[in-house]
Amino acid sequence: MKITIIGGLLGAALGLVLPVSAAPPIKVMLLDGEQAGAYHAWQETTPYLKRMLADAGIFQVDVVTAPPAGGDFSAFKPDWSKYQVVVSNYDAPDARWSDALKASFEEYVRKGGGFVSVHAADNAFGQWKEYNLMIGVGGWRGRNEKSGPHFYYQDGKLVPDQTAGMAGSHGARNPYKVVNRVTDHPITKGLPKEWMHVGDELYANLRGPGENMTILSTAWSDPANRGTGHEEPMLMVISYGKGRVFHTVMGHDVAALNCAGFITTYQRGTEWAATGKVTQKVPADFPSADKTSTRRAYDPPAK
Ligand code: ZN
Repeated sequence: MKITIIGGLLGAALGLVLPVSAAPPIKVMLLDGEQAGAYHAWQETTPYLKRMLADAGIFQVDVVTAPPAGGDFSAFKPDWSKYQVVVSNYDAPDARWSDALKASFEEYVRKGGGFVSVHAADNAFGQWKEYNLMIGVGGWRGRNEKSGPHFYYQDGKLVPDQTAGMAGSHGARNPYKVVNRVTDHPITKGLPKEWMHVGDELYANLRGPGENMTILSTAWSDPANRGTGHEEPMLMVISYGKGRVFHTVMGHDVAALNCAGFITTYQRGTEWAATGKVTQKVPADFPSADKTSTRRAYDPPAK
C-alpha cells in the first residue's frame, strides 16, 4: 500500500500515468468432466465459459475436470478453498461422488464459497439434499414432487406449485424473451427489464426446496412449444450458509452461450457469487426487448 501511494505521488510529480493498483483477480474454478447423454458437449462449451470470464478482465480461471463415468475418483479431491467461486458445467449422477467429497463441497459453500450453476449443472445429483438446497430448483435425474414444488411466476407473484409430476422439461430451441423480476439486485441492476435470448432450451418444471431463493428473471414457457404456460425461472440467486449461489438455466450449447445477455449475466453472476458485488458495466450490445444480440468473438467455428 505504501509503495503504491509513493509510486502514485512520484508518478504524479513526474507527470507519469501510473495504473491504479489493480485488485487481485477473482479466483474461479470451472468444474466439468461429465454431462448426461451426448446432447451436452462440455468439451465444447467449457472453453467458451472460460473465455467469457477471462474477457471480463477480473477473473483468473482454472478448469478442473472430474474423472469420467467409471473413472477412478480416489485422487479427485479438489482444493475448493483456493477459489472464491466454483462455476459448474458438470452434470453427474448422485453415486459419482463419495459422501466425503460431497461433504467437502458443502462445507466450502456453507463457509462462504461462491457457486455458479450453468444450465445442466442443475440436472446433477438429483437426490443430494444439500446440493438441491444450493441450486434451489433442478430437473431430471429422478426429481419429482418429492424434491419440492414447481416454482414459477404468475400474475407477478412466485407460486410454489405442489402438483405431482416429474421435474425438468423444455421445448425446441427457439429464441425467447427474458423478464427481469428483480431489477435492483447487483446482477440485474441497470439491465433492460426485458431482453431477447437467442435460441436455447427454455427449462421448465424445475422443482426443489427453493429455500433462501430469489428468482431474478423468468421467461414464458409457451404451450405451443411443449411449455407449461407459466413464467419459468431463468436466473436465480440462493444463499446457502454464508455462501452465495448464482443459478442460470441458460446455455445449452455453444450457439446458446453466444448471447450478449447470457454472457453479461454470467460474468456478473460469477462476480456476485464470489464477492457479493458487481463492478462490471452493462455492455452497449446487451439485447433489447425485441432484438437478440450475439458477439462475433464467440461465434462457433464453421463446420
Ligand atoms: Zn441442455
